[in-house]
Amino acid sequence: MTDCYCLWCGRSLRRESSFLHLIQVDDVLCQVCRHEMNCRPRNIKIDDLKVRSLYVYEGLTREMVIQYKELFDEALFPAFLYPHAEKLRRRYRGYTLVPVPSSEENNRKRGFRAVDMMFAVLDLPMADMLGKKDSHDQKNTDFRRRHEIREHLFLKEKERTGRKVLLVDDIVTTGETLKACRDILADAGHEVCVLTLCYNKRFQ
Ligand SMILES: [Zn+2]
Repeated sequence: MTDCYCLWCGRSLRRESSFLHLIQVDDVLCQVCRHEMNCRPRNIKIDDLKVRSLYVYEGLTREMVIQYKELFDEALFPAFLYPHAEKLRRRYRGYTLVPVPSSEENNRKRGFRAVDMMFAVLDLPMADMLGKKDSHDQKNTDFRRRHEIREHLFLKEKERTGRKVLLVDDIVTTGETLKACRDILADAGHEVCVLTLCYNKRFQ
């Protein structure tokens, strides 16, 4: 552990570990914040799409995602998946991570690739296989139908097929964007699994 303070509330992680000296605190968040994030993993099925997801998108988790993505707080990137990294790495051994793309315009505005960095803590190979064309109407992408979304996406790597791909994103809401991405990758001959950090409350 390089940082000794909770990335969210700033509480010392060392002091906490001296109270609970038998428990090795190996996290970038304190135990209070980690507990409040309320990890409730789910396997979600939306039509023909299966998604593995870890947190409900509400409360502290939602606040943290907004702070990270919308308020450009890049330093929060390890907070989301740090304690799950080893387990996920084992579960998805042999897979290449493929982030759902944001538009280049959003990446430029933000100055970092939010989803890529969030999942980089898994330390699995990552490939930027999907691209997104800039469009004037970014906001409601997920509420369009998958064929409409697909028109704005493209495959960057066409030469290699037959890879085990883990499609990753921050939140699953309607699943339409994930379906469109999954379809493009599956059509290119890849075996696709889907993992998101959070899921909409309605999937509880
Ligand atoms: Zn904290």
